[in-house]
Amino acid sequence: MRVPVNEPVITDEAKRNVLSALETGWISSAGAYIGEFENAFASYLGVKHAIATTSGTTALHVALAALDIGPGDEVIVPDFTMIASVYAVLYTGATPVFIDAEPETFCLDTTKLPSLITERTKAIMPVHLFGHPADMDPVLTLAQERGIAVVEDAAEVHGALYKGRLCGSMGDLGCFSFYGNKIITTGEGGMVVTNDDALARRVRSLKDLAHVPGKRFTHEAVGFNYRMTNLQAGLGLGQLQHIDAFLAHKRWMGETYTQCLKEIRGLRTPITKVYATNVYWMYALLVEDEFGISRDALCERLKEREIDTRDFFLSSAKQPSIRALGIEQGPFPVSEDLARRGFYLPSGLALTQEQLDYVCASIEAIAHDVHH
Ligand SMILES: *Cc1c(COP(=O)(O)O)cnc(C)c1O
Repeated sequence: MRVPVNEPVITDEAKRNVLSALETGWISSAGAYIGEFENAFASYLGVKHAIATTSGTTALHVALAALDIGPGDEVIVPDFTMIASVYAVLYTGATPVFIDAEPETFCLDTTKLPSLITERTKAIMPVHLFGHPADMDPVLTLAQERGIAVVEDAAEVHGALYKGRLCGSMGDLGCFSFYGNKIITTGEGGMVVTNDDALARRVRSLKDLAHVPGKRFTHEAVGFNYRMTNLQAGLGLGQLQHIDAFLAHKRWMGETYTQCLKEIRGLRTPITKVYATNVYWMYALLVEDEFGISRDALCERLKEREIDTRDFFLSSAKQPSIRALGIEQGPFPVSEDLARRGFYLPSGLALTQEQLDYVCASIEAIAHDVHH
């Protein structure tokens, strides 16, 4: 049996919508699905505005650009994150100020926030990781006190709740990705959400070359072409209609993996905080010393059994691309430790009971082998 790390499920509605877009010729960024998808997404999140983009990366970039963030400004961003969070800051010309991770949720360690804020801090970007929300209240409180914007990177948490509030809806702006392995997919795509009318207008303008309203080909700013296509929006709309079923599958996956793996010595299964509902975007584990072999050795053995895994992110500050810019920050001991010990198991929406059982049995067999 081969178990890929991710395999999407494309709904019949999504297929019908894409075909209809093709047959009617509405294949670019005009067409009814864009507005319908934006409205459905805004309504799902309970926010006033949702603006579709070409990716999660471009959603983050245009969100920061809408806040007028640029050279000389600082944005606090987790050291432990998908690199797109950091690159979005760099695209604006601002400086990323890295914050270490909190060891249980892997999200930003909010106790470190006060010492990182300077006169130049324009925004904080909490990133909700692997399906688990970041601890938002300390971020929101501090940001409000100091007049700093909050941009949530919610690319991995469609439908996750923090104290009953949906991730992505709490900051000044929230950004989502619809890449193929995300909970809602459009192939490639993204969304910016906000309750602020002025910010929504800025995002909408900047993502489409900043045409002056009513005066096409006169431009009020240096904008971008980050327009989602009607094909993608049709796909996303069809997927979004099934989000409850997708989230139920993720919950089943997370709970079943934990049931099987929690007794294995040296494996740390995901911790869900009392304030959170975890949507298990990816089922993320840590390999402790007591397991007996390293993360790399375990993943190698799983690979021999045709089980695909992914290592955790590397510390952003240690990336060659960041060091090449002369940005020297750190050390970030928690982030660096996670990078060494963390990985995730096959977690796609198409994962079957048989595949999951096979993954669990394989890990049990490897652990048994190592301990005897
Ligand atoms: C996937 C992801 C992104 C980037 O989204 P793309 O659509 O791939 O550009 C950004 N941040 C996080 C945390 C992600 O997981």
